[in-house]
Amino acid sequence: FLQGRTALVTGSTSGIGLAIAQALSAAGARVAINGLGTAGQIDAALASVTAAGGQSRHFGADLRNPAEIEAMMAAVQDWGTLDVLVNCAGIQHAAPLAEQPAGKWDDIIAINLSAAFHTMQQALPGMAARGYGRVVNIASVHGLVASKNKAPYVASKFGIVGLSKVAALEYAAAGSRDSGGVTVNCVCPGWVETPLIEPQIQAHRNGGSRDDGVRALLEEKQPSLRMSLPEDIAAMVVWLCRREAHNLTGAALPMDGAWTAQ
Ligand code: NAD
Repeated sequence: FLQGRTALVTGSTSGIGLAIAQALSAAGARVAINGLGTAGQIDAALASVTAAGGQSRHFGADLRNPAEIEAMMAAVQDWGTLDVLVNCAGIQHAAPLAEQPAGKWDDIIAINLSAAFHTMQQALPGMAARGYGRVVNIASVHGLVASKNKAPYVASKFGIVGLSKVAALEYAAAGSRDSGGVTVNCVCPGWVETPLIEPQIQAHRNGGSRDDGVRALLEEKQPSLRMSLPEDIAAMVVWLCRREAHNLTGAALPMDGAWTAQ
């Protein structure tokens, strides 16, 4: 159902973003991928997205740099009409607030929050003019509740939830039920098994195995005691792109094994 549509997924050389790029491609979209990595990692990511169905190209931009974001957005919009924007790039640094390096604060806010402001600013007016657009921001349960040792991350994720609600309001009346409208939402995952959380798994091993580390993380916060897989999150993003989701906007949707139900 995304035939003829173009999507950009930031942070799609790894983890959740890569699974989203693959799923959008399987649904028919041509997918612009973005993210860091060696040439080999980027080629492998591109090959897997193309194998899922659609065309794909990598648009390199370090998302800490607004000028690089602007250049990426111009290049993507030359390549295709940008209909679906998924802001997924993100980093984490766990440490007590008093010990968070100022540089980590700046990088986390830049990548997890400010980059989405810049991409949305470039993408939303065109979506509104065409009557269809989907912005899906990959926030986190940490956009809904806090945990210790994650001050910059939690601040960035609460920030992107707020930013998304403002954009949803401003674009709520764009388009029509038939065209699909313009929606802006956050997906708020609990634990998802990706490289991002590997340091936290290792920190919870307490001398045991990696599985012990995974179990300890889950027991602390996620009542389902199951990790999500990147493709679980991707399936929700694809569904949000459907026409029937035209009135689901301004939401922050948890997929967290009841973490935030407590
Ligand atoms: P990941 O480390 O596997 O992927 C992160 C992606 O962001 C990579 O493609 C990386 O290259 C890219 N990236 C990092 N810095 C960048 C920069 N300066 N410029 C451009 N790209 C950059 O992590 P993931 O777990 O797939 O995380 C994806 C998103 O999901 C993040 O926003 C994260 O906060 C969020 N999230 C993850 C979990 C989890 O448990 N894994 C839970 C909730 C939310």
